Formats: sequence, structure tokens, C-alpha cells
Amino acid sequence: MHALELSRLPVDFWSWRLWAACRQTDGELFFSPDGERGSTKRRRERAAKAVCAVCPVRDECANYAIGNHERYGVWGGLSEHERELIWRDLGLVSSAAQTAGRAS
Ligand code: SF4
Repeated sequence: MHALELSRLPVDFWSWRLWAACRQTDGELFFSPDGERGSTKRRRERAAKAVCAVCPVRDECANYAIGNHERYGVWGGLSEHERELIWRDLGLVSSAAQTAGRAS
């Protein structure tokens, strides 16, 4: 099959995950356990981001998480808080959600 034919193949929605660096790591590194806060959370997120930093599909992952409003976990090197800031910049957070975010 030559390049032109390859470009016509449908791209599977999740195909980028086949190259995900986190496939070889403990998935719990990327998501907060109940009650995790403060320096423990920051340390875990830093470790997860270190995996993302060398991931060949980091952009695809970040775009997926932003586009699909993934609320939890580190995706594409972005924490939950960092994605919230992006959603706010893009005007994708309702005023009710912004008020709730300020209260927490
Ligand atoms: S960017 Fe991070 S979370 Fe996304 S696939 Fe790569 S290693 Fe996994």
C-alpha cells in the first residue's frame, strides 16, 4: 500500500494509545486516590508528567483530554488543574462550574 492509500484509512479514535508511554507503567500513577492532597498529590503528578514528557503521543493525548473534558488524572502532561485553566481560557467552563471550583 502506498502513502496515498494509507492516508485514506480511517484513523481509529484511540489508535494513538498504542504508542502511549504509560502503557508500560502503573496506571495509578496518573490518577489521584481518594483523599490525596498537597505534596503527595504534587509528587505523584510530577512522576506522571515525567512519563508524559517522553511520550510520543503527548499532543494527541492532551488534545483528547481537553476535547473530551476529561476531569480526572494526568493526560498529555497536564494535570486536572491545568486542564481546568485551559477550559476557562477557552470559555468551556460554565459560570456554575467556575463558582463550584472557587468554593472547593
Ligand atoms: S501523554 Fe502521558 S498520559 Fe498521555 S498517553 Fe502519553 S504517557 Fe500516557
